Amino acid sequence: MSADLLFSKIVAGEIPADIVFQNKTVTAFRDINPQAPVHILIIPNKLIPTINHIEQSDEAVMGELFSVARQLAEQEGISEDGFRLIVNCNKHGGQEVYHLHMHLLGGRPLGPMLTR
Ligand code: AMP
Repeated sequence: MSADLLFSKIVAGEIPADIVFQNKTVTAFRDINPQAPVHILIIPNKLIPTINHIEQSDEAVMGELFSVARQLAEQEGISEDGFRLIVNCNKHGGQEVYHLHMHLLGGRPLGPMLTR
């Protein structure tokens, strides 16, 4: 299976995942290889491969990713201490799965944004 289909299958419930939020446009589930105590992936249900593929008609769903992130951060109890949202794009961004996703990371100090 190609790596871009993986997240579509999670959205469809065809591959198991620890889903923490789902509505008709957005799904959020815990990362299988967490980099922090809280590590959740928030994705559009529709397959948008990378940030480069976002169209004007996707603006609402992109905004919803942030709303869901805000809501989940509160639910996970990390709003006050803070957290980080990351969206990787293509090779230099370190993107591995070509279904656009926002990482919600928190639960410990995350250090500098980039390793030097
Ligand atoms: P990125 O490098 O930004 O493309 O991030 C891909 C993320 O997807 C990584 O953090 C992986 O650990 C995560 N991942 C890959 N497969 C799964 C899966 N089946 N369920 C949950 N997270 C996954």
